[in-house]
Order: sequence, then C-alpha cells, then structure tokens
Amino acid sequence: MQLKGTRLEVNLEALAHNYHYLRSKISKDTKFMSVVKANAYGHGIVPIAQKLQELGTDYFATAYIEEGVELRDNGIIKPILILHPQQHNLDLCIDRCLEPVIYSVEMLDAFTASAKAKQQQSYPIHLEFNTGMNRLGIDPKEIDKVLEKIHSSPEVKVRGLQSHLAASEDLGEAVFTQKQIALFEDITATLPQKLGYEVLKHESNTSGILNYKNAHFNMVRAGIGLYGFGNDAQYDLNLQPIASLISNISQIRTIEAGETVSYNRKFVAKDRTTYAVVPLGHGDGVNRIYGCGKLEVRINGKPAPTLGIICMDMFMVDISAMEAKVGDEVVIFDPQIHTSRQMAEDAGTISYELLTGIQKRVRRVYVNNSSK
Ligand SMILES: *Cc1c(COP(=O)(O)O)cnc(C)c1O
Repeated sequence: MQLKGTRLEVNLEALAHNYHYLRSKISKDTKFMSVVKANAYGHGIVPIAQKLQELGTDYFATAYIEEGVELRDNGIIKPILILHPQQHNLDLCIDRCLEPVIYSVEMLDAFTASAKAKQQQSYPIHLEFNTGMNRLGIDPKEIDKVLEKIHSSPEVKVRGLQSHLAASEDLGEAVFTQKQIALFEDITATLPQKLGYEVLKHESNTSGILNYKNAHFNMVRAGIGLYGFGNDAQYDLNLQPIASLISNISQIRTIEAGETVSYNRKFVAKDRTTYAVVPLGHGDGVNRIYGCGKLEVRINGKPAPTLGIICMDMFMVDISAMEAKVGDEVVIFDPQIHTSRQMAEDAGTISYELLTGIQKRVRRVYVNNSSK
C-alpha cells in the first residue's frame, strides 16, 4: 500500500457546504466576505480562496498586506480587505489593489499620504469604528475630525464602514452586543449622508451572522464558520469541519514495566507496553499540552492515548490494546468522531488556535468528498 504520509486533508466540498449554509442565513442583498487570514485558519490560503472565489464570494479579508499580496499573486481578483494594515508597506497595499481598514486617525493620515504620493483618486478605504471591542478602531467621538480629513482628501473614498463585535458567540452578553449594534447603527445611519454617497456596512463575524440578524447590515465577514465551526454545538450540526489531520505509524516498540518513554521520563510503564511513534510534534502544531494522555488519536478506529512528552517532530501513543503495524493510519482529528474543536477544548483552547497553529511543513491535501 502506498502510504500517504502526514497531511492535513481539506475537503473543499465541505467548504462549499459551509459557504452555502452561511449565505442562506443572510439576505440576498447582503454581501458575503470570506475571511482567509492566517493561512485561511491553517487550511491553506490559496486553494481555499480559489474555491471561495469560484463559489461566488463577494469579498475577501486578510489581516495583513502580505497575505493579500499572496492572494493577488494567485489569481484572486475579487476585492480584498486588509483588516490590520501597518504603515511600513502601504505602497504595496495600493500597488496590489488591497482595501485597507483605517482604524485610527494616524492610519488615515499615513494612508492618504501614500495615496497622494501614488497619485491616486478615490482609492477605496474602510473606516473601522470602536463600538466596544476596544481593540482597533476610530473612537466615535472622532467622526467629525475624520470626516473633515476625508472631505479634503480626494485621493481616498470610503467604500465601507466597519465595527467588530466582542462577544457575538456568547448569548449571555446579548445586552452588550445589542448596544454595540445600536451604536454601529447610529454611525452608519448618519455617515453616508455626510459623505454624500452610499457605502458598505459590516459588523458581523460568524457568530454575528448566526446569532444577530440585526447585525448583518449589507455585508458580513465570515471566518470560522467557513471552516466548519459555529462557536456553539447546536450550530455545528449545520456546519461541517473541513479538515482532518492524519499521519502514519513510523515505528512500534514494546517496553517492560519500569521502563520510560520520551523526554524527562514522564511516562513510566506499569506493565509491558506496546506503543507507536507518530511523525508529528510541537514543531507541527501538536503542542506539548497534548502529551501524557491529554490526546487520544485513533488507529484502525481505536483510541490510542499519548505516552509521555510530545517532542518537536514526533509523539508516542499506547497501542497495547490493539492490533497495529508500521504504516497504519493515525487520525489526530477528523470532522466526524474527534473534531479539532473537541481536541482544542480538551486542551483548554479553541479550534481557531489549534487550526492556525498547524505548521507549514504539514502538507495540505485537497479532496472533494460529499459526506452528507
Ligand atoms: C477574524 C475576524 C473575523 C472573522 O471572525 P470569525 O469568528 O472567524 O467568523 C471578522 N472580522 C474581523 C475584524 C476579524 O478580525
């Protein structure tokens, strides 16, 4: 049998399912922005964006300018929003037709200066307002100052107004979230008039799409939902995780009672123990927290817990209770039985962090499987 090796297997049909599901939750007139920052949440920015472009997404978003450049280098022609541009390469932003989020007065000044130097006219920008996330954003008190600057800067034109919800996944924070939505409503109700033209208005991430219909405005920004998670077990039923992390056993060894496994001898065998070495480690994104039994992988459908400390390039799992041989497949997570969400929660983190932490050297393989 030809071994497939360690890989993150990404199912583009599941991505399509999630895209269509999220789109079904917004009105026909609302635009859909696909957030593909951080290597498309670890899934591989180029193939994911190409598929989403084919599916008809209206917009893309990345965090940084360099990520937008990678999209432009690989055939993405749809508008690209840069959520967190910095001042050192705004020229590149303009050269590659990337639309910056202007989150401060300083950034507005820096960007208009770049646009002027490059002899731009009406270059599209988005203004982000802080409505309670208290991360990036222009203070609503600064609106008049910002407007004045925009009116005297023909090199830029506002294409969108943005804000970000702090707790859209937590219905216990609904009162706070509705306040954020109301504040954004106020801003977006008056600003277009003052600007003299209509603009895009966007405030919702995935949980905003699912939990707050009144926060959709005329564009939404979906990230984690595209990759199969809705921040709530009930929503997960309608979404499909798109990735599986799979490897193959490199070596099998049996030790006697009293012998130890891996660094610092944290696992001491109580009985004769047979275990397998798996070629994945913290250098790949399977963090040390998953050692010493914190993670159960599956081999031939049976659970195999980690033994001892996770190394940089490998970890060991107990296979005393099963039949297994070198080369057998090791499933670390998959969409059905043991999801990345479950694995992340077992370690006290979230699927976002586990997925974005999977390193470049883990090969991404793209498949088209319709499982449901
Ligand atoms: C990452 C991000 C999103 C996407 O959030 P999800 O919860 O993954 O849908 C949307 N908007 C902004 C500003 C972001 O930083």
